[in-house]
Amino acid sequence: MAEKLILHTTAAASTLDAVTTQIREIGLIENAIDFQGHNHYLAGERFAALITFLGCAPHIVTDPRAGDSFCHVEPVATENSILIGGSQGVPPRCPSCRTKLGEWRNHLQTDEITAETSLNCPKCSSETALASLNWRHYGGFGNLRIDIWGIPAELALPGDELMQRLEETTGSRWSFLYLEE
Ligand SMILES: [Zn+2]
Repeated sequence: MAEKLILHTTAAASTLDAVTTQIREIGLIENAIDFQGHNHYLAGERFAALITFLGCAPHIVTDPRAGDSFCHVEPVATENSILIGGSQGVPPRCPSCRTKLGEWRNHLQTDEITAETSLNCPKCSSETALASLNWRHYGGFGNLRIDIWGIPAELALPGDELMQRLEETTGSRWSFLYLEE
């Protein structure tokens, strides 16, 4: 299992290279490494300045010699905007009646989950697009993401400088979520 802090947005897939260049320039990442056959990056020299850690001095390991739980970064692009997470943490609520939608998959209008897929609330029947639900940082849609491995849920969040740079680079709004997979 890997614990991840994931920053995500919906933007042109071609901007992934610019995003990677940008996060290298500001020091979130440095050298590329091969991690289980994928291109990941070691945490850069400003990693701890760009990520805000909550609570008392967290034990975050950025040295690969520490084993698979070390902190490293994987920029990812998918062809379409997809749901990331959505099964963990606090369930979203119906925006109309506040019912908890823990079993939201049972109330979808179609089987296919895209940013346009809607559900009908089991209590008040009102229709809500999955993308507009408040997933409380345990789900969200996107085709561009930066997976930061080795960060337990709610231990850290992206700092303002990092989010601002990402938004400038892609011209889109970024969010973040926690995922254990
Ligand atoms: Zn409702």
